[in-house]
Order: sequence, then C-alpha cells, then structure tokens
Amino acid sequence: MPAIDIVMKTNNEKAGRQKGNERQQANWLTSVRQLPGVGERRAQQLKRLNIETWFDLLCWFPRDYEDWSTTVSLAELEDGREAAFLAVVKNKPSVTRRGRLSMVRVSLYQDKRSIQAVWFNQPWIQNQLESGRLYRFYGLIKRSERIFQVQNPSFELADEGFDSEAVQAFKPIYPLTDGLSQKMLRQYILSVWTAIKDQMPEFLPAWIRRSFHLSTAAYAYERIHFPRTSQDIEISRRRIGFEELFLLRCGLYLTRRQTRLQASAWNLSVNTNGKRMITQMIDQLPFKLTQAQQKAWREVQSDLVTDCPMNRLLQGDVGSGKTVIAALAMLQCALAGKQAVLMAPTAILAAQHHQTLSRLLTDSVHEPVLLTGSTSISERRRILSGLQSGEISLVVGTHALIEKKVQFHELGLAITDEQHRFGVRQRKLLAEARNQDKVEKGPHVLVMSATPIPRSLALILYGDLDLSLIDELPPGRQPVETYTAADADRDRVMRLMERVVNAGHQVYVVCPMIEEQADSDLLSAVAVYNQLSQQKNSTWNVGLIHGRLSQEQKDEQMQRFMSGMTQILVSTTVVEVGVDNPNATMMIIENAERFGLAQLHQLRGRVGRSSNQSWCILMSDVQDELARKRLKVICHASDGFAIAEQDLQLRGPGDFFGTRQHGLPDLRMINLYRDRDVITDVEHALTQLIDKDPDLNSPEHQLLRQVIADRYPAVFSQIGL
Ligand code: ADP
Ligand code: MG
Repeated sequence: MPAIDIVMKTNNEKAGRQKGNERQQANWLTSVRQLPGVGERRAQQLKRLNIETWFDLLCWFPRDYEDWSTTVSLAELEDGREAAFLAVVKNKPSVTRRGRLSMVRVSLYQDKRSIQAVWFNQPWIQNQLESGRLYRFYGLIKRSERIFQVQNPSFELADEGFDSEAVQAFKPIYPLTDGLSQKMLRQYILSVWTAIKDQMPEFLPAWIRRSFHLSTAAYAYERIHFPRTSQDIEISRRRIGFEELFLLRCGLYLTRRQTRLQASAWNLSVNTNGKRMITQMIDQLPFKLTQAQQKAWREVQSDLVTDCPMNRLLQGDVGSGKTVIAALAMLQCALAGKQAVLMAPTAILAAQHHQTLSRLLTDSVHEPVLLTGSTSISERRRILSGLQSGEISLVVGTHALIEKKVQFHELGLAITDEQHRFGVRQRKLLAEARNQDKVEKGPHVLVMSATPIPRSLALILYGDLDLSLIDELPPGRQPVETYTAADADRDRVMRLMERVVNAGHQVYVVCPMIEEQADSDLLSAVAVYNQLSQQKNSTWNVGLIHGRLSQEQKDEQMQRFMSGMTQILVSTTVVEVGVDNPNATMMIIENAERFGLAQLHQLRGRVGRSSNQSWCILMSDVQDELARKRLKVICHASDGFAIAEQDLQLRGPGDFFGTRQHGLPDLRMINLYRDRDVITDVEHALTQLIDKDPDLNSPEHQLLRQVIADRYPAVFSQIGL
C-alpha cells in the first residue's frame, strides 16, 4: 500500500507515526531536515509551528494569497487595498536607521505617476533593488493627502524576458514564526511537493467525488499551495475541507456503530419501591425541577430502562441544574442493584459533587464514596475492594477512576461532568470500564457539559451522542450585571466589593497567572492575594487557591470559602468549572482579555446562583478593538449559546475549542462557521456511505477505511483494523 497510513496524520499521533515509519515507502514522514536549506536552526523554527515532517509541511495551508494575477495602473490604486502593480525603480533606495530600527525608502515610477515604497526593519532590501529596472510589486496601499505609499511590498523582477508562465498569479501567504520567511516556506513546500506529488494517494471514493464535485487529492494539494487561478483556490479548499470533516465524521460514526453493535447494558428498571424512592427524592429537593430538567430526566430515564447502552450528552448552560439529573440517574442505577460512577475534571468539583450527592441521597442506603488522587491509601484500598465486590454502589471522583486498578462488580452507569474538560479518549475509557468477568455488558453513558456549543459544532463534536438540552435556568435567577473596568476604576470596584462583603456575601477574584513574572504586566493571584490581605480593612478573610497547591490545601481553601469563613477567594481558573457557592455574588476577573469568551462565561457562571443580585467585573486595560468587542459581548449577553455563536464568529472555531481538549484532530482547513454548505455535504455523503456500505468493507472504500483507522488508532484497534 502506498504510504497511505500517514495521510492526514496530525503531529500528535506519534504512535501511529511509528507504524508509518516501518512501512515507509514514500517520503512523507521524512524529517524536514532532509530538505535543501534546512539545518538544525530552521528545523527548530519549523518545529515551533509543529512542522516536523514533509507531510506536516504539505498540510501547512496558506492562510491567504497575494493576488498578482492582475496588475493595475498607479492611477487605479485605492487607499487601504492590496494591489499588484508594475513600476520602475529610479534611484538607489535610501536607508535610515534609528538604533535597531531601520527604514528603506524608494520612489517607484509608472508613466508619469509615482508611489513611495517603504520597508521597515529589512535593510537588506536596499541591495535587492537595482535602479532603472522594472519590477512587479505587491502590497498594501496607503494614501495620505495626495501621496500614495506601499508598505513592505514583496516584489520580483519583471523586465527580464517576460514570461507569463513564470509569474505565479496567486502567492500563498503562510502563517509564520520568528526567523522564517514566506520565501523559505514556499521553497520548502515546493521541494516537498516536487518530490512526492506522484505518490499522492486518493482515498475519497470516486462516487463521492462525483456526487459532491470534489477534485482529486493530487489536484487539491498541489493547487492549494500553487494555485494558477482563483478557482483553483476555491476548488482545493473545498476538497481539503470536505476530506478533513468527512474523515472525522466517519471516524465518529464507526465508533458509535461499534459501541452499538458490541455493547449491551443492564436494564436499570426499578420496582415499585424504587419508583417511590425516586419520586421521594424529587419531592424532597429544596426546589421544584424546571420543565427542562423534567424533560431531560425523562429522556435519561427512558434510556436507562433498556439494555441498549445509553450514550447521551446532557447539555445545559452554567447553573441550569445538571447535577440533580446525574444524581437521579445514579440513584435509579443503585436502586436497580448496579453501580454508578460520576467523574469530574477537578478534585474540587468531585468533592463538591460527593457532598451534593450525599445530601440528596440521605434516605437511601446507598452512601456515595469519593475517590481522587489524594484519597488516603487505606481509604483507597477500601474503595477499590468495595467496588470490586459490589458493596459500594456509588462513587464520585476524578481521573483516579479510570486507572487500571479500578474494577467494578457490575457497573451500570458512567457519568462524566464538564465533558469538555476531558478528551474523547478519557470519556471512552470510562465508558469502557469493564466489569469483572462480565465482559459482555458495558455501562450506560451520560456526559454533561456546560460548554454552549452551536448546533453545527455539536453535530461534529458529539456526532456520536444523543442530545438532551436543559435550555432554561431555575426561576428567580437575576442576570449577572457585567461591566468592563480599567485600572483607573479600581477604587470604585473596591467600593462595590466592600458593599458586597458587608452585606454578608462573598467574592471571587480570578487572575490569569499564579505568580508575578518579570516580563509580564499580568496580575498574578499571589500578588492580588497579598494586596487584599494587607488591606487596612483587616476584618476580611482572604483565601488563595491555584493549581500548584497540594490537594489538601486546595480542599481546605475551598472548604473555607464554601463555609463562609473566607469572604474573598483569589484564584486562578481552577474555579472555572462547576463550583457551586450560591452565596458568592461578585466576581472580579483580572486581565479579562486573556480569557476566551466561553471561558469567561463559565467563570461568570460561578456567581448569580441565587436570587440575589450578582456582579461580574471584567478588568482590562487593552485597547485592541477585537479584544474590546469580545468583552462587550460578555457584558451584553447572558445566554451561553449566543455568546458561543459570537465567539465563533469573532475568532473562528480553531480558537473556540482547543482541540487538544477533545482529542480530536485539528480542523485546519474547514471553517465551521463559514463553510456551512460543506458541512451539509459531508452529512449527506456520510448518510449515503452508510446506506451503501455500513462497515466500509467494500474494496472501493478500503483506502478510506485505512486512513480513518490511521487517524483514530485507538478506536479501531478494537475492531481489528
Ligand atoms: P450546572 O448545570 O451548572 O452543573 P448545578 O447543577 O450546579 O448547575 O446547579 C446550580 C445551582 O442551582 C445549584 O445550587 C442547584 O442546587 C440549583 N438548582 C438546580 N435546579 C434547580 C431548580 N430547579 N430550581 C432552583 N434551583 C436549582
Ligand atoms: Mg455542574
């Protein structure tokens, strides 16, 4: 097979790469060091962009193109537009220097008109331009009064036996890092492509390419880097974007199919007595379930009483009340005589869930236990043996729950909270938690997430899950009043804080860093803590919590804050997920511009958890327009979904999700916001594929299957690929 195994492999898939190396036939996985002009230093620079192999280079797609296809006359230039034009260099360019800064300046002529060209900090340009010769220039045009200027234009000689073939009409612009230039990247990619273009494998079956008007891989990968026309760019983008998403969706589909085919779960029906206990728990809640919660619970419950494993995402904005649904499901499971586990991303959250469950399940005989990294050895031993024997039916914990040593007697239900904090792999590990000697049964799976994901994304990221939505907040919640404030407003912010604390409420202060760093203006948690605790107002108790504290220290700080002993809790983002202290009504977020919108929304969700008015103050001194716009979005919107949509628009999905967190491959080409038609096509193609060949067994899908397997090695190892 022609080196198919490495097609579309991302940088992170080291394991898969190993395998590729053994079978290496083409030079895809050759190190970039093997390219002319790439030595140790260049290789290091490329590595900063995560480019290590030839294949990585080929997948380093241009972020844009310079359009050299039509040169305009100087009379047609417009302020603020990029343009290509022909012009003569009349005199030798001049250089002025100030310290380490420099500016090259030259006048360019075309007929009777002229334009100034300037280059900042590229003094060598002076010697690259010969006076009296004609060049083709490309750059951003600026106009002040009647003078036109072009800044940092690129250029090439145009009067040497003009040959239109030699002019590349569209020049790729690659994302760069310090030390690398566009020229270098273009050269490297050209070398790679020249060497391997004849071995470009095609794994999209012909019928899909025909139905959805997609070019071949060979065409797309060539023309994305070396387009001849603007259509080339469109055609290549479409093909590569399609393939990227299609592979991902096929992978998710096959995962789900495998789960569905293989696994069966215990039917968690309960008897009349059990039903009564569940009703009782609902009746004894300190509140009435919202309509949305009731509906979600009905959906979960009806999944639990079949032997087809539930695979459901429970999505609801921060504060919408997901925990109680988890508690109900766990109770149902325990009453049906099976074990249930709830996994949270942090020990703080796990401890809190453990408390909540213990409180909600008072009357039942099922006492939940807590297992985290800091559980004592003896307690841990007791829990592990209790889980193995079946004596313990309810367990809450962290990643400690997916360690090999943890064996269940009869695991009926596995829940992960704040699913976006876990990778797909971890989620799967929990779902696969096998029961001793009863390999044929797997647990029902529920994942909960507050990350408000726009529908188009949810489909892709959770394509393998059913969805329950809690789209309603408990009654009486007041929207959190959210403001931006600059350092100059700090006194006013402090006065508000004083008022809040004096009224008996509590305050979070969130900082982007733990400790001060020499070269950074960011406020650190430690510095803010010192400042607040030394305030003249000594009646305030200030707490400090961050990721570098030991588990006991964190627990203690959290405990003190939950019980009201500390009024102010200074923290890093460790409080981001899940923490529930309804008495906290104010949050100050330092250097708010440093956080993503979804994250700010999550953070803010820690306040506004009661019927008291709450405040969130976004401290920021940035002037950057985009950054200010993003903070404004948070001030004006309280609905997580609206915020997510806007974030997606402002930043693009790449930043919206750190894909690392999902264990999903990077989506480099497709823009999930812009390319909605491609998303639709991919869904149609997948449906047709499933119709035709549900297991991708036919020979025409063999390459496709192979590529998917290489991309998701863990998933497919189990189905013998
Ligand atoms: P999240 O969905 O963010 O995990 P939680 O489950 O932590 O939300 O619930 C947030 C808060 O709202 C908790 O204090 C919880 O007790 C409370 N709560 C949950 N459901 C309701 C309800 N129906 N009415 C009033 N308060 C509720
Ligand atoms: Mg929660």
